[in-house]
Amino acid sequence: MKGVADLAVIPQKFIRKERFVADVQISLGWMHSGYPIMMHSSIGAELFNPQDARTKGLWGEIHELGHNQQRSPWEFPPHTTEATCNLWSVYVHEEVLGVNREKVTYLLHYIEKYVKGGKNLSDWNVWTALETYLQVREKTDKSHLKENLACNIYPSLFNVIHKGENAGKSSRLVANLPQTKVRLKKLVLITTSVLSNNQLFAIQTIG
Ligand SMILES: [Zn+2]
Repeated sequence: MKGVADLAVIPQKFIRKERFVADVQISLGWMHSGYPIMMHSSIGAELFNPQDARTKGLWGEIHELGHNQQRSPWEFPPHTTEATCNLWSVYVHEEVLGVNREKVTYLLHYIEKYVKGGKNLSDWNVWTALETYLQVREKTDKSHLKENLACNIYPSLFNVIHKGENAGKSSRLVANLPQTKVRLKKLVLITTSVLSNNQLFAIQTIG
């Protein structure tokens, strides 16, 4: 949970504990985010096996914890809804559990398929979008990042958004962030470009 908090740039002591509830019948799929996170009882034992967690990983569980940290200002829905939550899966697997993400997922295959398919925006989601985020992370000059967490650009980006949200709360505005989706997306792209020292405007046409 400390790893989840660190990537999200929030205090390690959560306002409320995250909870998992395993049940024989849940409302959606094998697991879903929310409070509590729900999971199918047949896989509940995964949470009590630290050795397996450190070898096979806990991708699904961290994915759902990642969903709980997603904030709409930095999302490009529907494309990134099932992608940015995996930034937590990648971070916790690599930095906390010591499991290389290639052991739990294989992303380049999806990129090849996306390119061969004509690079359609409709195909830019889940794994393809995650790989894009990871490539931006890899191509970032990390030396100037304030929140330099395992050479990761995203805590710095999330922090900009959190500050905007918090400033908005204290001034009783909805948020001290752009109020239109287009402007918000531009802010995210500009901030990510500046933080990573990469020109990302080619994808500004999104949404
Ligand atoms: Zn999901």
